[in-house]
Amino acid sequence: MNGTSWEGRTGRRARVRGCLLGGAVGDALGNPVEFLSLAGIRRAHGEHGVQGLLPDEEGVVGRVTDDTQMTLFTAEGLIRAHARAASKGIGGAETALVRNAYLRWLDTQNHPAPPFAGGDSPIRTGWLRQQPWLYARRAPGNACLTGLATGHLPEPTRRLGEPGPVNTGSKGCGTVMRSAPFGLLGQDAESGFRLAYWCAQITHGHPTGAYAAGALAAIVTHLLEGDSTAGAVLRAMELLRHHPGHEETTAALRAAVDLAAEGAPTGEKVETLGAGWVAEEALAIAVYCALVLPGADQVAPALLLSVNHSGDSDSTGAICGNLLGARHGDVHLPPSWLVSTEGRAVITEVADDLCLEAEHAVAWPDGRYPAC
Ligand SMILES: [Mg+2]
Repeated sequence: MNGTSWEGRTGRRARVRGCLLGGAVGDALGNPVEFLSLAGIRRAHGEHGVQGLLPDEEGVVGRVTDDTQMTLFTAEGLIRAHARAASKGIGGAETALVRNAYLRWLDTQNHPAPPFAGGDSPIRTGWLRQQPWLYARRAPGNACLTGLATGHLPEPTRRLGEPGPVNTGSKGCGTVMRSAPFGLLGQDAESGFRLAYWCAQITHGHPTGAYAAGALAAIVTHLLEGDSTAGAVLRAMELLRHHPGHEETTAALRAAVDLAAEGAPTGEKVETLGAGWVAEEALAIAVYCALVLPGADQVAPALLLSVNHSGDSDSTGAICGNLLGARHGDVHLPPSWLVSTEGRAVITEVADDLCLEAEHAVAWPDGRYPAC
């Protein structure tokens, strides 16, 4: 694809929107069944399981969870880092600015709404944190909450593959479910891969959690460039294999690729890849569903496949939606689900802002994306 042609730029924007909106749709589909077994889902919703957006326990349809919330803050942190580098010539602050963005997300988990007492720190700025709907606890991951409280900032000059000091043994899917935006800024796949890796270690120390996040970023980068899903996954696996300690993540992706080659998807096949509570399994389930139903006219069944299993349905749905949207663009997301997904307008705006920043390094209105 020609990245500077009208078609190229239009397609790219549709894919960036698709990545973030698709993630939100998948998250909302999986949210009501996150803690149900496959048998329990079938008992409650019929033999085919979830077939569309369902009300959550408060009766509200289309609510997203921490996966979409954190993904938006990842995007915000990256926009701010890019804008700072472009306007002030000060690069290299990405991990710090993404961490600051996650601290703004942490505020949304600890306060009912903005503004709040003690909310005058320099990093408590920007328009995203002013969105009242983001102030909602939707089963946030423990490692994300406790990891952010430690104040640790990963040092990106260290060698990849060593455990980080925060939640050292944890490889929960909280790393990968928030990391699609690292593939959306228009940089090369390895840069996004590395940045996602280091930002994962803000909260999770196990290298596999970080590699899964990096692999998702690399896959998304290749999808935006116009690769097929299969091609994007294989190129990410090629990148992975050069890094020490990649084996667990590579094995999970290999299992997903092999399973997709068997055709005829079922919920039982999804469950052979694991439950998705850990990062490499969540990525593998999402990749399998995107690979086995690869068509632009198969987005709905692929999303449903990604949530109808006994594991972490909202996270596998969110990651699968990231992949499908990055592959096919927002125009192929199921319209009736899209219109009922919480936060659609803000998610679309963040996607467009990412594109504007990446393509033009625009001068943002005061206070929208401060350089901190
Ligand atoms: Mg969630």
